[in-house]
Amino acid sequence: MASFTIVGGGIAGASTAYHLASSGHQVTVYDRADTGQATDASAGIICPWVSQRRNKKWYRLVKESAKYYPDFIARLQEETGLDTGYRREGSISLFKDDHIQSLAYDRIRSKQPDAPEMGEVRMVSREEVKRMHPHLTGLYPGVFVEGGGQVKGASLLKALRAGFLKHGGQWITADFDAEKAEGTVIYATGAWGIEQDTDPKIRHQRSEVLHFRLKDGNNENHTPVVMALGPIYIVEMGMNQYAIGTTHEDTESFSAEPSEENYEYLRGLAHRYFPDSEIEDVKMMVGLKPYTRDFLPFLGHIEKDVFVINGMGATGLTASPLVGREVARHLNGEGTTLDISDYSYI
Ligand SMILES: Cc1cc2nc3c(=O)[nH]c(=O)nc-3n(C[C@H](O)[C@H](O)[C@H](O)COP(=O)(O)OP(=O)(O)OC[C@H]3O[C@@H](n4cnc5c(N)ncnc54)[C@H](O)[C@@H]3O)c2cc1C
Repeated sequence: MASFTIVGGGIAGASTAYHLASSGHQVTVYDRADTGQATDASAGIICPWVSQRRNKKWYRLVKESAKYYPDFIARLQEETGLDTGYRREGSISLFKDDHIQSLAYDRIRSKQPDAPEMGEVRMVSREEVKRMHPHLTGLYPGVFVEGGGQVKGASLLKALRAGFLKHGGQWITADFDAEKAEGTVIYATGAWGIEQDTDPKIRHQRSEVLHFRLKDGNNENHTPVVMALGPIYIVEMGMNQYAIGTTHEDTESFSAEPSEENYEYLRGLAHRYFPDSEIEDVKMMVGLKPYTRDFLPFLGHIEKDVFVINGMGATGLTASPLVGREVARHLNGEGTTLDISDYSYI
């Protein structure tokens, strides 16, 4: 048994803490619950296969983590009895016209043989989109991916923390004091990684999401995640309640106050995608997404007893279950599915 001190209790730190504690180590987490924590604000889409991003190391990480998700969630729910909001109702990617839909179908479908967890992949007409998502605009055709899913960041975090405590971990809600470190220190401090003033340099983007309710909504079934035009997505957060996002802003500020401008922009999008519905605001969420220089997560030692997990970017909720498992295995000296050195350049 070894000792670990984990600084940061967002999804990256909590997943690593859970996996280390459940493999028998003595683990303490310090989390100061900063406003703007990315995990709390996250929309929680787990659907890496439809992205146009071509980076192979990134794709391997998110693909393997999406594959790991069902077992990981089942174990966590069994151990804690808590619901994480994980659901797989599929995803619909929308496209401007039939030609782009057809090209996208070929691109997405080509990933299926290597990722059978995607399930069925098929083109869906405007009418089918309406059948699956009755209040959504019928303007656009789509591609449906059966394995697409979602999870609630805050609920997953609660379950991970409960599982971690069950495995004997200690969770301290406070700023980390280096004098209290025991064993290997793992920094998983998200956007606040800049405070460590070490490599890799961490910067962040501020993202905002609008949560709203359809006042006249009468859906009785859950709806798939929607990857709308451009970088816009729509996720169901409760029956007839959705989140639409997101805005992206490179910033050095740590303010997590919603901006009037982004609120107006997102509200305009909500009306565009639900043109026949009466929309009632629920809340705006603001999160600070951490990035490294090349938009890849960093997982590695920066000194003998200091390890860093950061730069989880826009897909950290997808990647973190596997990251936690793989880092724990790596630190245990066990074999890993990923080559950790792929993620530990400086
Ligand atoms: C609006 C939004 C939507 C998103 N949508 C998706 C999505 O659909 N799918 C997906 O896969 N990903 C999504 N993401 C990305 C994902 O949420 C992030 O990549 C992930 O949550 C980052 O987790 P983290 O643990 O690295 O950082 P965080 O969740 O920010 O946690 C860092 C924690 O460290 C703590 N901390 C920092 N310094 C200290 C210190 N010195 N002492 C103690 N504690 C400290 C902070 O208080 C904080 O709690 C989204 C993000 C945002 C903002």
